[in-house]
Amino acid sequence: MRLFNTATKKIEKFKPLGEDVKIYTCGPTVYGYQHIGNYAAYIYWDLLVRALRAEGHAVRRVLNFTDVGHLVSDGDEGEDKLEKGAERDGKTPYEVAKFYGDDFMRGWDLLDLVQPDVIAHATDYIEADMRAVDLMTEHGFTYETRDGVYFDTAKFDRYADFARLDLAGLQAGARVGFSSEKRNASDFAVWKFIQPGEKHIMRWDYLGRPGYPGWHLECSTIIHEELGEPIDIHTGGIDHVPVHHTNEIAQTYASYGRELARTWLHCNFITIDGEKISKSLGNVYLLSDLAERGFSALDFKMWVLSGHYQGTRNFTFESLAGAKARRLNWRNKIALTYQRGAGVSDAKGEAGNKAGAEIETGAGAKSNSGVFTEVLSAVGNNLNSAEAFAIIDNSDLSYDDWVLVDRLFGLGLIKESPDINTAQVDLIRERESARANKDFARADELRDKLLTQGIAVRDTAEGTVWEYAG
Ligand SMILES: [Zn+2]
Repeated sequence: MRLFNTATKKIEKFKPLGEDVKIYTCGPTVYGYQHIGNYAAYIYWDLLVRALRAEGHAVRRVLNFTDVGHLVSDGDEGEDKLEKGAERDGKTPYEVAKFYGDDFMRGWDLLDLVQPDVIAHATDYIEADMRAVDLMTEHGFTYETRDGVYFDTAKFDRYADFARLDLAGLQAGARVGFSSEKRNASDFAVWKFIQPGEKHIMRWDYLGRPGYPGWHLECSTIIHEELGEPIDIHTGGIDHVPVHHTNEIAQTYASYGRELARTWLHCNFITIDGEKISKSLGNVYLLSDLAERGFSALDFKMWVLSGHYQGTRNFTFESLAGAKARRLNWRNKIALTYQRGAGVSDAKGEAGNKAGAEIETGAGAKSNSGVFTEVLSAVGNNLNSAEAFAIIDNSDLSYDDWVLVDRLFGLGLIKESPDINTAQVDLIRERESARANKDFARADELRDKLLTQGIAVRDTAEGTVWEYAG
């Protein structure tokens, strides 16, 4: 596996630090519905986990839920997202976090994303956060102001390195406001005190006053508690580089004197019809919006994986329709391959189940034809799933290869590929030649006949596809 490491700005050969590959993914702030742009990131990291397992690595992966203290901006001012969501929904912040956390995981399951080994809720780590701040303070990295405990970024001489920050420029451009007690513009709160008159329902007593942790702290704390640093791979969106991940690195160094992560992966944004995803443009699509237009979550996953995680991707419904057709086409190929008995080493159902079982245990994937080896090596080249997809399109895969492909991408291909018999395959072929001869009456007749047998045939730009009639 070769991966582009944000920390070194190079593609590097990946070498695990220990027996388990330890991965941490910055998760959602659970105060609202997650849109398809949010889910795209988790789809890329799902491929990372699946590919490492296919290569034979054991993976231990932690995902956090931010259910406290994430302010509306990356800075230390503004409203708390959870508290704001609670006000909007007429619920407590805890109810809000539970509701949107559950909704997020429903989408996770629809996308057939591999379950994380640990889902860490920030609110379960408050005591550990306090211990971390104690340590930073003991090591001389913090100072107290009226509104919180701040990290003094001038005390960490490598602070600017990770994101190549221009600290002098940042300092010059800093606005003077409530936090003018901050020593440097890049300093950030590791703990916030609740001010008189602030409503904050989520509050914990620390340093003799009610407060709550700064947003960046939970990731350093959870990694320390659940994985132990340094971890192998830390993933997130590119917007996390200059502030959130920079601060995570600083905190971990200040508390524990350790490197946080060896390899950093950052995915880029998706735009919709060429525009940023935003409420004002009305393009904040949820998975349920796609479903209403006839696209499954797995069609969307197919669309995401047809591009690269570092590129900006432009989503359109036309391109989603293309991904859906490609997925149907693959399912049909699987049905045909199975029906021909090519490379089938196992009963269909069992092969599907086995695929599921092995991905959990992390057994390496063996290919019997060489095509899957090519596919896996394309993915191993900095997660180049687009190239892997092109190989799949242009190769003749055995059924066993398809099982491995389905396991690698988690596209529900085997489960959804229709079981058809020889006679039905003949009917489909007969219909195709009828259409080629412009005998549309005969083609329609054959289509209806197949439909009575539970097989729905449709003609698309990519050719004829069929599926179980709903
Ligand atoms: Zn994080």
